[in-house]
Amino acid sequence: MAKRAYLSIGTNLGDRIDNLTRALNILMRNPANQSIKVSPIYETEPVGGVKQDDFLNIAVALDTNLTPPELLHWLHVIEHSLHRKRLVHWGPRTIDLDIVLYEDEKWQTASLTIPHPEMGNRRFVLQPLLDVMDDDPVHQARIKQLLQNTTDHNWIRPVE
Ligand code: AMP
Repeated sequence: MAKRAYLSIGTNLGDRIDNLTRALNILMRNPANQSIKVSPIYETEPVGGVKQDDFLNIAVALDTNLTPPELLHWLHVIEHSLHRKRLVHWGPRTIDLDIVLYEDEKWQTASLTIPHPEMGNRRFVLQPLLDVMDDDPVHQARIKQLLQNTTDHNWIRPVE
């Protein structure tokens, strides 16, 4: 039986819509990834103080037969395919894919922390996530609560 993972995807370099489209295409090229629901696209203010272009962010609800480490590996494949450059910490990136939640599992290893420790501090993660959680009331309630309490007040607006 497939497991439910939630991903957060962001981009602020080059053709941002094309980056998102390519990332989703490669994501679903892995036959273990069975179905996805994709949020609307949001344009968001960069967090972290580095001067850079605005981001586009989406969230994805993914039903998958990959374990979290296998999924992380596949996300890295996507990042490499899009020639992600990471020159500055908190700086611009072609594509960034994070596992935010995976079922109710907790992971704490050198390369993987789930739930994603920063999710409560990032409105650009929480808002799109809510849009793909209609069939998951337990997680939905939790994310709504985090969104109400977050201290991140950077702007985020849906792309028309
Ligand atoms: P970043 O600079 O945000 O792209 O950090 C990437 C690294 O964070 C990856 O190489 C992962 O090993 C690590 N990482 C830890 N937890 C997660 C997670 N939940 N999702 C994605 N990457 C993670």
